[in-house]
Amino acid sequence: MNETLQLFNLCGKRALITGSGRGIGLALARGLAGAGAAVVINDRNEQKASAVAARLRDEGFSADIAVFDVTNPAQVTDAVDAYEERAGAIDILVNNAGIQRRAALENFTATDWNDLLRVNLDGAFHVSQAVARHMLARGRGKIINICSVQGELARPGIAPYAATKGAIRMLTKGMCAEWAGRGIQANALAPGYFATDLNRALVDDPAFSDWLCKRTPAGRWGRVEELCGAAVFLASPASDFVNGQTLFVDGGLTSVV
Ligand code: NAP
Repeated sequence: MNETLQLFNLCGKRALITGSGRGIGLALARGLAGAGAAVVINDRNEQKASAVAARLRDEGFSADIAVFDVTNPAQVTDAVDAYEERAGAIDILVNNAGIQRRAALENFTATDWNDLLRVNLDGAFHVSQAVARHMLARGRGKIINICSVQGELARPGIAPYAATKGAIRMLTKGMCAEWAGRGIQANALAPGYFATDLNRALVDDPAFSDWLCKRTPAGRWGRVEELCGAAVFLASPASDFVNGQTLFVDGGLTSVV
């Protein structure tokens, strides 16, 4: 392998991807595994995580599981510590687990607001803290926080979701402030619109799809595999001097009005 390709090689690295039983998390797990990483599938359900990991192994990849709910700090710390003890270092963390709730801001329930914050923001904090303690002890690590175009642009009906993604951008900068000098590169990856369960309401709405395709310079929805190149870059030595950035993979949506 030539020197440039070597920069993107993840062989010998282990990547934990939260919420990787389906959707973008699963696509990123497959993408990182394709670049050589051993991947750790996280889900709250052990059977589901095991089935996904088995499917990836059938595809020729190295895949293991770590079962925890990102909103439960004790469960997260126990699972991460036990995993490191049993299997070895987690070199790459992708904070992907996330949820969406839709309602007019004036009618948004406190329960939905709290759920969004707990999964999208608290979850990334808990898992990063648990994993970073090990990374800091080793003096190296890569953290990729899955943000969104909504970290930059608001939309009616999802103001609280946008607030969590804006916060994730700042948490990423905070990680940079505290950990860049200690060997961890923390960056955010901000997808545009990708057809997954999270966006089911939009995918099923032809008027929204039509609007989106006109609004997006690339003229279409993203395909989840199209996030993998950016994830491999941010997980690999190719990004060793990239810290605290948000990389938008959005077909140009945030660049053009
Ligand atoms: P998705 O298909 O709904 O998948 C979300 C994943 O997160 C599922 O695997 C889910 O597990 C997991 N999860 C939810 N709560 C969890 C918890 N408490 N602990 C552990 N895992 C949990 O959504 P997606 O579209 O792939 O979204 C993934 C990430 O990308 C999210 O952070 C989202 O905000 C972001 N994003 C998505 C888009 C898009 O267009 N789809 C755009 C921008 C950003 P279960 O199967 O158990 O529910």
